[in-house]
Amino acid sequence: MASNRDYYEVLGVDRDADQKTIKRAFLKLARTLHPDVNKAPDAEEKFKEVNEAYSVLSDERKRANYDRYGSAEGPGGFGADYVDMSDIFGGGFGINDIFDSFFGGGASARGGRPARTRGRDMGITLRITLAEAASGCTKTIAYDRLAPCDDCDGTGVGEGGHETTCTRCNGTGRVVEVQRTIFGQMQSQSVCPECGGSGKVVDKPCETCDGQGRTPSRETVEVEIPAGIHSGQSLTVPGKGEAGVRGDAAGDLVVRIEVEASDVFERQGDDLFCEVRVDALEAIVGTTVKMDGILEGDEVTVDVPAGCEFGQQVMVEGLGMPRLGSTARGNLVAVVRVVSPEGLAESDLDAIRQMVEARGASKGDAGEKSASDGSKKKTKFRPHGRKSANGSK
Ligand SMILES: [Zn+2]
Ligand SMILES: [Zn+2]
Repeated sequence: MASNRDYYEVLGVDRDADQKTIKRAFLKLARTLHPDVNKAPDAEEKFKEVNEAYSVLSDERKRANYDRYGSAEGPGGFGADYVDMSDIFGGGFGINDIFDSFFGGGASARGGRPARTRGRDMGITLRITLAEAASGCTKTIAYDRLAPCDDCDGTGVGEGGHETTCTRCNGTGRVVEVQRTIFGQMQSQSVCPECGGSGKVVDKPCETCDGQGRTPSRETVEVEIPAGIHSGQSLTVPGKGEAGVRGDAAGDLVVRIEVEASDVFERQGDDLFCEVRVDALEAIVGTTVKMDGILEGDEVTVDVPAGCEFGQQVMVEGLGMPRLGSTARGNLVAVVRVVSPEGLAESDLDAIRQMVEARGASKGDAGEKSASDGSKKKTKFRPHGRKSANGSK
């Protein structure tokens, strides 16, 4: 029942509220409802509700779907090139971590001032198809991160406020304490308690980000995936990881690529293996098989030689995977699968039977003679045996 509440109502904003208003409302609510701060029994439930409302209304596509269909998913999901990473975040970078570093971490500790710290790198895994890996593609990824605060441009300084050099440590961020002991004077250095080590103090912190200079945000980033990329390789989007505290350097977004297996092709390095089905009669006389390649517009011609055997590999040069960072391509290797011919008329079968019988008679002498070196010849006749077995049913 709680989750059915109107998202606009949950955040207490108008239906035509802009993103800034939505975000401010969300941060204000989230700050009072965060389980670390609010110990009321229903705080966690409310926090989740606020979170859900924000995750939809902060994403223009989801919001449009919600406005029109009453559901963030809309009638048919998103476009193929739009990947929502919020539910496939792996390895410790979920929205919860983002909230923890926003609300926790001492950054908003009462009275203290946030230390200047660099943003962390963030890692996500993006799955693409083998065809996308071959052609290269552009993906729009939507994800959550701590981004520079819009209201203070990431400085953490509120309107009319100033950032000044800390007078306690003279901007060094460290304080030296001198203690008198029975052994004489002892000096120890520690982080300045006034500025938290940043060397700067803000007299009026930004209210939206609580002086941190960063806020949890839904972000979209376009990632160019080069042709020929392999599973396990990563692309780095500089500065798109977690934003630094009060304007310090942001971390990077590291996108690890996972290439899905294809039904048609098996990749081995830059070569592609696939199966071609050739009927037994064609395998005997040789044939040409045409098929689509991995890239759009590829015309693959597999020249199956006469006498081709089951499992034989026929290489088609230069029609494998594009090589990363090069215009060259690997090879395509067609593995021949010999199958029984279909739709043979009774007269065809008669003709074949006669041929087989005639061959069998002449082979009686030759077979014994070439027993030691005739292995190749023998395997060539295996398909005949299968075919006649199938043909008779
Ligand atoms: Zn200081
Ligand atoms: Zn701010």
